[in-house]
Amino acid sequence: MTAQCELCFPNELIAEDDNAYARHDSNGLAPGHIIVVPKRHVASYFEMTDAEKLSVIVLLDQSKEIVDRKFSPEGYNIGVNIGKAAGQSRMHVHVHLIPRYSGDVADPSGGIRCVLHGKRSKTP
Ligand SMILES: [Zn+2]
Repeated sequence: MTAQCELCFPNELIAEDDNAYARHDSNGLAPGHIIVVPKRHVASYFEMTDAEKLSVIVLLDQSKEIVDRKFSPEGYNIGVNIGKAAGQSRMHVHVHLIPRYSGDVADPSGGIRCVLHGKRSKTP
């Protein structure tokens, strides 16, 4: 039997195709925070098929257009946690599209490079 989880049951979709869907993150970090999820239950980004990866990329683009119209963010971070050591808690891959706004953190320099707290490089 195939493993299933909450992300296997898409609801309140923003966009979808045959392989993946996009929805707001249930615990969003910022207005317009979206996750893009393959419909198949698969834990790792690297286990997705090429078709699933393409769907995820296309849905990221579509979601960005929707978030731009609704929230007008000034930037974005795209990120995916792969494995418990990297902070993955739901073992169904989901790619975060996190809108960014001026002043949302005191110092945004380094962006996604700052996931390792205390290891920020001065030369990104
Ligand atoms: Zn699942």
